[in-house]
Amino acid sequence: MKIDVDRTTCEIHAQCVFAAPDVFSLDEDDELVYDADPGPEHDEAVRSAALVCPVQAIRVSGDLA
Ligand code: SF4
Repeated sequence: MKIDVDRTTCEIHAQCVFAAPDVFSLDEDDELVYDADPGPEHDEAVRSAALVCPVQAIRVSGDLA
């Protein structure tokens, strides 16, 4: 699965960080950092993160488990 976050849309609500903390996090400058190619064990959490993002900034592509 591939993840792409539209940084022009993302408003650092951090809902994705709560939904998938192994994939999304905030760095010391409160910038979003994420694993763009997480393993299939993260599919469900990433799907949840994409759903809860208030501005639909998370795009998911590729195979989902
Ligand atoms: S939930 Fe959406 S807006 Fe918030 S940090 Fe994650 S991608 Fe950005």
